[in-house]
Amino acid sequence: IEGYSKIAAGEVIERPASVVKELLENALDAEADQIFITIENAGKNLIQIQDNGKGINEDDMEIAFQSHTSSKIKSADELDNLHTLGFRGEALASIAAISQIEIISHPAHQDYGKKLEIFEGKIKNNEQCGAPVGTTIKVANLFFNLPVRKKFMRSNRVELGHITDVLTRYSLAYPKVHFKLIHNSIVIINSPAWSDQNNVEGKNNLDPYKYAIQTIYGKNVSSNLIPIHFNDGNIKLNGFIGSPEISRSDKSAASLFVNKRLVTNNKISQLIINSYKDYLMRNRFPFYIIYIDVPPNKVDFNIHPSKKTVKFEDESKFFVDLQIIINDLIIGGFK
Ligand code: ADP
Ligand code: MG
Repeated sequence: IEGYSKIAAGEVIERPASVVKELLENALDAEADQIFITIENAGKNLIQIQDNGKGINEDDMEIAFQSHTSSKIKSADELDNLHTLGFRGEALASIAAISQIEIISHPAHQDYGKKLEIFEGKIKNNEQCGAPVGTTIKVANLFFNLPVRKKFMRSNRVELGHITDVLTRYSLAYPKVHFKLIHNSIVIINSPAWSDQNNVEGKNNLDPYKYAIQTIYGKNVSSNLIPIHFNDGNIKLNGFIGSPEISRSDKSAASLFVNKRLVTNNKISQLIINSYKDYLMRNRFPFYIIYIDVPPNKVDFNIHPSKKTVKFEDESKFFVDLQIIINDLIIGGFK
């Protein structure tokens, strides 16, 4: 295994929540429908993610930790047909360069699991073991060899806040996955899959996305949402915009997903704020959850290593269309 630069690693991994995000994306790409995260000391000491996804073949486990090895795309052309959250093959290599890792993976077709221990990017131990089907990865002592980064981690309250934020947002985009977050033995988030819960009293027949919103934000929010739909054959947009009663003091409470990936896009948030501003008090922001689906070749996530910013093909036309539908919706819906 080749050592990965600590500096490069620090670019992808800014804080414990970045580790959680990358590992969560891997579990989702592995099609897990149960993802349990256990952390200690806001992730500074330990981050463990257990999934029931398809696992990693024993022969591929060491390769998974080499930089720029992704099983998800084989050539740049395949970026045009991307249906996974990961594609750079950098996350595991980066995390391994700046922490201590133990990973156990058991693909269903193998009779046993395999365990790897990695220290400073080097494999220290590799052995067979019993394990449930899926993957469990433990990341300990994050930034142990990047003292400045380690020192600049914020309080447990702040770092835990970032982690719960990542998890709550992902549970909004994957309502059919059961997510759980346990911090220092206390359950912080438990968001059962829609399919298990849709017959529970009071939640009958909820649309899966609305179900997830209700689970995370409660009934007051889920019953004050106006649905939004747009489809020009190329771009599909669905989601909900909250009525002014549930506006927020924090702009970042709203969520935008593009091809199920949590992103930020200032133009989209600004145009929603523009349409909405006559209905809001000062210093309040609209609450919305918007899911945009576009063909993978019409969108570029490759702008920043964190994959958090997004650029669309024909952006200006799209934004004009979007402003019109959102204006209509808001004028029609909130009067
Ligand atoms: P990427 O997600 O961009 O492909 P990563 O460094 O995050 O790169 O992961 C490297 C590879 O390890 C993935 O391509 C995948 O094959 C494998 N992998 C990582 N985590 C999991 C997981 N939880 N379940 C199954 N395979 C995984
Ligand atoms: Mg990944």
